[in-house]
Amino acid sequence: MADKPPESTSQRAIEPGREYVRIENVSKRFGDFVAVDNVSLTILKGEIFCLLGGSGCGKTTLLRMLAGFETPTSGRIYIDGQDMSDTPPYARPVNMMFQSYALFPHMTVAKNVAFGLEQERLSRPEIERRVTEMLEIVRLGELAQRKPHQLSGGQRQRVALARALVKRPKLLLLDEPLGALDKKLREHTQFELINLQERLGVTFIVVTHDQEEAMTLASRIGVMDRGEIVQVGTPTDIYEYPTSKFVADFIGSVNMFEGQLVEDEPDHVRIRCPELANTVYVDHGISSAPGATVWVAIRPEKIELSRQRPPATENVQQGVVKEIAYMGDLSVYLVKLDNDRIVRVTLPNVERHADDRISWDETVWLSWHPTSPVVLAQ
Ligand code: ATP
Repeated sequence: MADKPPESTSQRAIEPGREYVRIENVSKRFGDFVAVDNVSLTILKGEIFCLLGGSGCGKTTLLRMLAGFETPTSGRIYIDGQDMSDTPPYARPVNMMFQSYALFPHMTVAKNVAFGLEQERLSRPEIERRVTEMLEIVRLGELAQRKPHQLSGGQRQRVALARALVKRPKLLLLDEPLGALDKKLREHTQFELINLQERLGVTFIVVTHDQEEAMTLASRIGVMDRGEIVQVGTPTDIYEYPTSKFVADFIGSVNMFEGQLVEDEPDHVRIRCPELANTVYVDHGISSAPGATVWVAIRPEKIELSRQRPPATENVQQGVVKEIAYMGDLSVYLVKLDNDRIVRVTLPNVERHADDRISWDETVWLSWHPTSPVVLAQ
């Protein structure tokens, strides 16, 4: 129901690749429990596709079915046009990097990376050439003779990645690949992963519960909830144009207000929310009947704070600042309305010293632009 942009607004260009993975009506039951519920999804060659969702929503189960470690209860998976129903894991053009990295502790870095090639019985010079090349790519050449316990978490992660990539899979599945890393290293490694992917052209499917990670890595994101894919889109689509309350709430922070449509015209809607003193005006129609119950979602960074009442009569609301959290790059303001409802507002800290910053217990006006609210019907 959100007004869609005229064209994709992704930060990273999706490779204009052809369809590489097709998941068709795939379900997986464990006894009575439906872990994956009728999922259909197409993934393009050269994408980094992130499956994003909370704990237990079925992301890993879907990944394991792609790898062949689980069999779908119903539905089909095609990789590169081939039905995988009867293809065992080792015969799929797929490699999987596990959450735990699963490195062999007694083997050196080089041996860990070489292991899969040795299983394939490649010649020794060929193995050496490929291992050296891959260790250079992940910048571990100098640590080739170390054992895993002599490495940092980030280095271990890169060994696991090298081990998965050295076999030149067409499709690499990564299950929470950066979960063990601290925030800074995780961010750094995210960019490394993107570079690596762009260099090697492998298609990546990444499972994560971390929305920031998905937003950074993904060309497209599939948001999962209780076994279903609830929305697929570029990071920008998912953040700016969520199609449900669940997605709006799951990705980033949002202020959500329930209301009734009082006017729905092709170029605008007006919504009355019992928790807000004035109507909400949004600059596009939603083709719903007046009187319908809808939800207005407004991101904290899209709300302005002022001491003076803005001239508009709509999209404005008075409140009192109850909390301010200084986060360095931005500050979070929690503003309490008359009815005790708390509204979250974030403001960037552009200046190091700003003497007239709005402070605790001040009465303020919140306002937002008519393009800012997202109107949701489900
Ligand atoms: P997390 O982020 O916590 O790893 P997830 O989204 O990857 O979660 P899955 O591992 O796919 O979740 O599990 C989905 C659901 O299926 C969970 O409720 C889990 O308990 C259940 N499940 C997974 N494997 C099995 C199994 N072998 N037998 C029974 N239930 C299972």
